[in-house]
Amino acid sequence: MVAQVIDGKAFAAKVRAQVADQVAKLKEENGITPGLAVVLVGEDPASQVYVRSKGKMTVEVGMNSYEHRLDADTSEADLLALIEKLNNDPAVHGILVQLPLPKHLNEDLVINSIDPAKDVDGFHISNVGLLGTGQKSMVPCTPLGCLMMLRDHHGSLSGMDAVVIGRSNIVGKPMAQLLLGDSCTVTIAHSRTKDLPDVVRRADIVVAAVGRTEMVPGDWIKEGATVIDVGINRIERDGKTKLVGDVDYASAAERAGAITPVPGGVGPMTIACLLANTLTACCRSNGLPEPEGLTA
Ligand code: NAP
Repeated sequence: MVAQVIDGKAFAAKVRAQVADQVAKLKEENGITPGLAVVLVGEDPASQVYVRSKGKMTVEVGMNSYEHRLDADTSEADLLALIEKLNNDPAVHGILVQLPLPKHLNEDLVINSIDPAKDVDGFHISNVGLLGTGQKSMVPCTPLGCLMMLRDHHGSLSGMDAVVIGRSNIVGKPMAQLLLGDSCTVTIAHSRTKDLPDVVRRADIVVAAVGRTEMVPGDWIKEGATVIDVGINRIERDGKTKLVGDVDYASAAERAGAITPVPGGVGPMTIACLLANTLTACCRSNGLPEPEGLTA
């Protein structure tokens, strides 16, 4: 079997176009422009790249982008004061604090100081609890993007066996909650899981979110399974720097029914879902109907 490629880049472009359409409608019919504030503390080069492209795409879909770049030695009190200001700013519907933060800042405290209704990353403890109890929440962007691609490919996921490899708060755990919400039978695997190859071989859906280069070989994949590769690993190969996933794409594509590539799979969906979440937050805060197909 040669797997169908799930084209995250094309799917993300479709999501962004949907967001742009709805933003135009919001402006025209309600005079509201959704606004996303991104806070970057310090000069981490990867974070700077992410923040730049988030800002660019926010403007491209017609939203307002507010960037706050703070020095690496910014005090916790100053950062919390900025978040408080953004929480109270009616022009700001979504707030994202780019992680990781410098070591002297308490990440949990900072994230939990964001108004949950504006927490477009879905990391606030209230949103985690709402998602866990199946209530309306802000859903973390990367797992939301994975879910959208899975629903698009399969229609219903009900009754499918899903294995999520990785139990981080930002990907693995919320991914498992979302799959459970769609009535999959979910296994969460991690570094202490016994017989991981056997666990993965039972799955109709495999989501790999580990951060280990090509760790999942093709012979772990059940014939016809759908493979979502969240991993982003930068490696040197043939004298060039390349991005590869947590799945060995070449061998997995020979057994899977469908697979996301790296790059061009989950990655582009993450920013598209950030924009979708900002639109959702804006609609909710204004008592307007939520955009269809852009939330969990
Ligand atoms: P993380 O916080 O480091 O979590 C990694 C998880 O993998 C942990 O739960 C760990 O288990 C598990 N793990 C490590 N080694 C393992 C092994 N040998 N077998 C089974 N499980 C193992 O990473 P993350 O933040 O979730 O990110 C995972 C990957 O996704 C990274 O490559 C990251 O760059 C990428 N990512 C991509 C996007 C995107 O937009 N595409 C967004 C976020 C993250 P323990 O808990 O037992 O240690």
